Amino acid sequence: MGSHHCLHCGNPTEVANYCDWNCNVAHAKAAGGKVVCPNGLPIMSINAIDGSMYEHEHGDHPDYKFPITVEYTGEIPDDLPDWDPSFEVKDHALIYCDGYIAITIYECSHYMWKVSDGTGSSTWRHEEWKISDTSLERIRERFPVQYEG
Ligand SMILES: [Zn+2]
Repeated sequence: MGSHHCLHCGNPTEVANYCDWNCNVAHAKAAGGKVVCPNGLPIMSINAIDGSMYEHEHGDHPDYKFPITVEYTGEIPDDLPDWDPSFEVKDHALIYCDGYIAITIYECSHYMWKVSDGTGSSTWRHEEWKISDTSLERIRERFPVQYEG
């Protein structure tokens, strides 16, 4: 007991290097880590090598725009165990949009979505995953379709 101490404030911790996420972030900042949060969102991820801080796990992607949420709209199996997060709302990082399709990254995989109705075309059970209404609105505002004529 008491053999661990927070690397930032020095308070004893159970087993972790920091008391909590705040101390973790404060330590990265004190060490000169760069904050890269273009949308002003809270820091969610810290690069272990250079201490850079990001608002999304994939916020370090050079084309990162903003996080979007995707939702499962299908039927959730009755026998799904409580611990299984498969059908929970997910935060994807938007990296590309031309007004028609959107490309996101989630847990190191790419996903493609139709901006017209928000449905996915490359996800597991893809016909049942959809970009949330608030995220779709934001995408359409930021990447309006330019109709000719
Ligand atoms: Zn601490």
